[in-house]
Amino acid sequence: MLLLSIVIPVYNEEENLPTLFQRLASALDSLKTPYEIIFTNDGSRDRSLTLLQEFHTQRPQQVRIIDFQGNYGQHMAIIAAFEQARGDTIITLDADLQNPPEEIGKLVDAIRAGHDYVGSYRTQRQDSFWRRWMSRCINWLRESITNIHMRDQGCMMRAYTRPIVEQIINSRERSTFIPALAWQFSMNPTEVEVRHEARAAGTSKYNLYSLIRLNFDLITGFSLVPLQLFTIFGLAVSFLSGLLVVYMMLRRFIIGPEAEGLFTLVAILIFLISVAITGIGLIGEYVGRLSQLVSQRPRFVIRQIIEASDDQDTRLRL
Ligand code: UDP
Ligand code: MG
Repeated sequence: MLLLSIVIPVYNEEENLPTLFQRLASALDSLKTPYEIIFTNDGSRDRSLTLLQEFHTQRPQQVRIIDFQGNYGQHMAIIAAFEQARGDTIITLDADLQNPPEEIGKLVDAIRAGHDYVGSYRTQRQDSFWRRWMSRCINWLRESITNIHMRDQGCMMRAYTRPIVEQIINSRERSTFIPALAWQFSMNPTEVEVRHEARAAGTSKYNLYSLIRLNFDLITGFSLVPLQLFTIFGLAVSFLSGLLVVYMMLRRFIIGPEAEGLFTLVAILIFLISVAITGIGLIGEYVGRLSQLVSQRPRFVIRQIIEASDDQDTRLRL
């Protein structure tokens, strides 16, 4: 029979956890298939860990907890849980009830139908206007410059078969975007429609900076097009400015030196300098990814794993 692993990253979600666990457990029980729930506590500073421990006490065979030493981000939290998952099918879910647990059945059906990766897209997305707008832009950008195609990259309620999860683990990337990685490995992906609810309680754990970081990871992690566009732009500007130099020289010989148009030139210069600075930043993104990859530091440190077999196990993974 199919064993399901449900993977949930948790960062300061004390208000949502009790309802989540209750709804999740009853949704999973009704599927009549064995399951485990792996929570990764991503360095929460509230009572999240205590609550998770209570869930483990209630259902020791089904609840496993990975407790991170610090906050390593949603995607690393998921990777750590992937490494521990025992299921044939692994399903990721947010802890804030934006993805209703009752929709898990749909994902499982798609896996049973033979797909190795099931993405999802949200109907009537319940997020702020600017988040939806930013999402739309970045979805468009990704569709245009990467070969990853999905309707709604931001929806984390997804199902993966074991081989896909294993390839994700083996990728060893530090900053990555799991759904995009999975899409690359998948041979038979599909997408299903899932409901979306407003965050049940608390506020988004992503601020503008972490959202930008995440989306930079997506773009620079899966495409070299930004660098190539930059080179093409550089070549085009060199060519045009070459023409301008020839023109100015001829003009100087024929009409004489000119002093007007100075500010136009300054404006053009400032523009080009700002383009150059952007380019340096862009190269920095790629170099940064490389240096992270080359350094052998751990992607995350696990303080303890709480699970049925060796309950008191306290491990430091280096
Ligand atoms: N999350 C996490 N670590 C982080 C940020 C978020 O584990 O550094 C978890 C969070 O607890 C939630 C999921 O990732 O379960 C999605 O986060 P959130 O709902 O804040 O993102 P949004 O829905 O606003 O994109
Ligand atoms: Mg959310």
